[in-house]
Amino acid sequence: MQQVLRRQVPHTALDPWHADIYYEEVRLHTPEDPRAGPYVMPLVTLRTNPCRWSASAGCVMCGYHLGANRAPVTDQHLVAQTEDVIRRVNPVVYPSLVFTSNGSFLDRAEVSDEVRPVMLRMLREAGFQFLTIETRPEYITSNRLYAMVKAFSPDTAQGFGPHPISVSFGLESSDDFVQQYCINKGRRREDYLAAFDLLRSRGFPFDCYVLLGKPFMTAQEDVKDAERTIRFAADHGSGYIFVMITNLVDYSLTSYLTERGRYTLPSLWRAVELLGRLPPEYRRLIQIKGISHAPVSPRNYARTCDLCTEHVKGAINFWNQTGEFEHIRAIYPCACRNGFRKGEWAVQAEASLCQRIVSEYQILAEELDIDSDLIPEADLRTLAVAENWA
Ligand code: SF4
Ligand SMILES: [Zn+2]
Repeated sequence: MQQVLRRQVPHTALDPWHADIYYEEVRLHTPEDPRAGPYVMPLVTLRTNPCRWSASAGCVMCGYHLGANRAPVTDQHLVAQTEDVIRRVNPVVYPSLVFTSNGSFLDRAEVSDEVRPVMLRMLREAGFQFLTIETRPEYITSNRLYAMVKAFSPDTAQGFGPHPISVSFGLESSDDFVQQYCINKGRRREDYLAAFDLLRSRGFPFDCYVLLGKPFMTAQEDVKDAERTIRFAADHGSGYIFVMITNLVDYSLTSYLTERGRYTLPSLWRAVELLGRLPPEYRRLIQIKGISHAPVSPRNYARTCDLCTEHVKGAINFWNQTGEFEHIRAIYPCACRNGFRKGEWAVQAEASLCQRIVSEYQILAEELDIDSDLIPEADLRTLAVAENWA
């Protein structure tokens, strides 16, 4: 299905000599960070070739492929993009930065194994102290980890860390059924656990993105799944957990469903509800993302009503920067919150998630002219039983 939707993605040939850089207000809190507290984080997205998973299938809400380059990106381009970052981002003001690609920084189809250490050495020599890269778990190998740390932090390379490179995962959900059939992530919990184990044993910090606003799920199912996933990530050592609120990007399944009235972006109140339900020891790890910045601007962001969207976003932003829950507690009780409670939050499903997904897949197959025998119904039902969604 995703392949059919992706067929119309334009053949982008972005300027390969410059990187995308935008800034987000965050809070730093782990012992490995060069400083603690509110921080403006530069997010460098290299204009690499697209995520391989996105090109072949892709996650249902993803728009990273729109910021990727369809013309070949060479090592020379990537070195030039790194020089561009060094020219534009001052390491004295910004010692820590997210430096990543449009999918997986550790996939050699995006960043070659030869050029990756060259780029990291350039960043170290320029004075940057701490990096966060993003990757799917299947691209993590001991060799790549070692090559990165040797280039960026030769002082810690021979030891067991902590190393000043953190690895970020789009975990989205710790539930295999949700991962597979609501998000189409193409990975299982075990894949992440293996990657977490390897990183921990080698002294690398890591963090996880958790998706809020998953299609096919009711708001309550979505929040419960996010809560379980947050506990899973935290209990396995994730230093930060970023709750990513789905936004609407072109050529995604979520956009396709929205246009036909079968999906709606979550209200921002859903994120507020989630924060309120978390015990403080888990909540303190959370920052909410996806509400106002993205490498490629989405068509729509999650919101509340015209009167209070900016106010709620502001409160979430202050929470992100300070970790003070008072900012969330003090959100003005706009009438639309009641509307959320009586509407989106009150929706009860009439069938199991498994049944709803099978019927939605059947509709999609018909609409997109795909043979419905391709729907892996037996596997889907088996996994639904295993994860209690049957
Ligand atoms: S969310 Fe990440 S893994 Fe999924 S398609 Fe997008 S870039 Fe690839
Ligand atoms: Zn409102």
